[in-house]
Amino acid sequence: MEDLKTIIRDIPDFPQKGVVFKDITTLLSDAKSYHRMVDLIAHRYFGQKIEQVVGVEARGFVLGAALAYKLGAGVTLVRKPGKLPYKTRKKSYELEYGQDTLEIHEDAFDKGTRVIIADDLLATGGTMAAVYDLVTELGAEVVECAFLAELNFLKGRQRLPDNKVYSLLQFD
Ligand code: 5GP
Repeated sequence: MEDLKTIIRDIPDFPQKGVVFKDITTLLSDAKSYHRMVDLIAHRYFGQKIEQVVGVEARGFVLGAALAYKLGAGVTLVRKPGKLPYKTRKKSYELEYGQDTLEIHEDAFDKGTRVIIADDLLATGGTMAAVYDLVTELGAEVVECAFLAELNFLKGRQRLPDNKVYSLLQFD
């Protein structure tokens, strides 16, 4: 797994001063690493009757769609405001400076649909906590929230049900 970690590069002072951003585009564009990442995460869910993979805009789409294809599941999109064409349910959440909002189609799931939620990275957990709420409010059953990477020092998993967080790579 160390090779997957080292191909992710650190970008200092992005998107603002003092933040070191984990740039995963270098992993995505490396065919071997990208396929390995998808295979390793998908393997965890084989045989678990996953019906939908929820992808979080935008990097979560890249992981989510590939996982869904591997698992024989559908894809549900969680998007930034104003992008989804049908009626939506919205959830706002706090960022370090200000607020953000995410949306999902209100008819996204039948009751009890078994889903995993996919995003590239777990930082403070604010984004995934909002998506988790949206998905459960619409009646789906979240099997797990799956990430390529987790920044352990930000303790994001404390904001989510403990046994429902999985990340392939951990950064201390
Ligand atoms: P959180 O809400 O957990 O603080 O932030 C996670 C969200 O912000 C994810 O949707 C993720 O894509 C994005 N994000 C925050 N920090 C990083 C980072 O260092 N690298 C990448 N690739 N995404 C990040």
